[in-house]
Amino acid sequence: MQETARYQNHVDGKWHPTAAEDIQVTNPATGNTVATAPATDTAGVAEAVDAATRAWHTWRWTQPAQRAEHLHRIAHVAQQRADELARSITREQGKPLDEARGEVTKFTKTLHYYAEEATRVFGRTIPNEEGGYLSVVEKEPVGVVAAIVPWNYPLELIGWKLAGALAAGCTLVIKPSEHTPGPAHEVFRCLEDAGTPAGVANLVHGAGETGKALAAHPDIAKVAFTGSRTTGEELYRTVTGITGLTLELGGNCPMLVTSSADLPAAVRGAARRAFRNAGQICIAINRIYVASPLYDRFLHELTQATAALRVADGLREPSADVGALTMREIGQRTADHVADAQTRGARVLTGGGPAPAEQGGRFYPPTVVADVPRDAKLMREETFGPAVGVAPVDDLHQAVHHANDTPGGLAAYVYARDVEDIFTASRAADFGNIAVNNVDAGIINAPYGGRKQSGTGYEHGPEGLESYLHLKHIRLRHGS
Ligand code: NAD
Repeated sequence: MQETARYQNHVDGKWHPTAAEDIQVTNPATGNTVATAPATDTAGVAEAVDAATRAWHTWRWTQPAQRAEHLHRIAHVAQQRADELARSITREQGKPLDEARGEVTKFTKTLHYYAEEATRVFGRTIPNEEGGYLSVVEKEPVGVVAAIVPWNYPLELIGWKLAGALAAGCTLVIKPSEHTPGPAHEVFRCLEDAGTPAGVANLVHGAGETGKALAAHPDIAKVAFTGSRTTGEELYRTVTGITGLTLELGGNCPMLVTSSADLPAAVRGAARRAFRNAGQICIAINRIYVASPLYDRFLHELTQATAALRVADGLREPSADVGALTMREIGQRTADHVADAQTRGARVLTGGGPAPAEQGGRFYPPTVVADVPRDAKLMREETFGPAVGVAPVDDLHQAVHHANDTPGGLAAYVYARDVEDIFTASRAADFGNIAVNNVDAGIINAPYGGRKQSGTGYEHGPEGLESYLHLKHIRLRHGS
């Protein structure tokens, strides 16, 4: 039997034992406790912020090329430790091991990308009205960053913040989710091996109270948050106006299958993006609007594709399609959304059923629900679990109207071959990311962010780096 790991904070370059009360961490595929992590209190958070503040006074003056080299080094170490990183993800988050390996690859790609982008931060010069003057605009790191991340991509989402902040010349304190502290622990082992200077990146474990204390610390210059809409709204209200804030929040993302769609491609896309990571993705397809002439065929083929997905313990079956749900609440919410749709006349075509039992693994079958009315929870709220609602639409206008008619604005998917359909749908859809004839709405070198209640600010791309920089105007009288 495997030993229970005891994670510690990592502050000022050292593992840091605390007397804090422990949080129990379980393997969602078995229900067994696999680790404990400290619930860091306000004093513990302050020590980490102090360490990051001290380190910032040196790190901010390092040359971009030096920071770039360092980020590449962290990526190389992570690549060497890919297996341990992937196992730590599956053990606590539940996605199958092969999928977790993909997450490790995305983590290392992010580090390499921001290593390159670090050397492409340019200012500008502005001529003045009077002769003998010049305005120089420089970009500087904002300072110490609080990086607060959720459990669904417990490594990749640390990567977005770690790479962007360090590339910009910021230092940071990372607080992983209390449900998945293991991957963060492994990241700090990588940082140690890469020789990351003390205090440049710090790790504090804990739940919401720890996150709150970190975001509220007066020396934090920016909070980079990914998580639920509820927590994001709370942070928006509580973080002081002089602290920068980016919020990457929840989705409830629509897919539009138009009458000109390549139907088999749309089915493949839907099955992948509705059920990958068991639907626990902010950009998961939650609801699908299908042009009426294609509706019955689409339902038939999506049901077959979904029923063929293999659900299993992702450590035992690395190539399974769907693993365990990270928390029992996810299964409960998914079952609730499915039952709610059924009471409104919808039909379960595959999957469904009650929430996972209190004991044992947390599995729920991938579920397709047809004829789901607009007021059902499946169509209005983020399920964040393995269920998708499908409904027919009369035309593209109606599909776009339904797609926009919820508070979320993160990602939308369009399947169409007609050029007019493609541009009409992708321009009218009020979302930060639109994927047309594919379901990978985010790539590392293009800006990624939500609209409406899905958040504010951008990660990825040069914009992701800009969010850790601010401008300085130097007005120079040179007399020439
Ligand atoms: P959550 O908001 O419960 O927790 C996220 C993080 O915030 C955790 O580390 C948690 O401990 C911490 N936290 C909780 N309360 C806090 C508070 N009051 N102050 C500061 N920190 C606090 O979210 P979750 O359940 O872990 O994550 C799932 C959500 O994340 C989903 O809604 C999903 O859509 C969203 N998400 C969004 C993106 C994106 O890029 N837009 C990516 C992944 C996940």
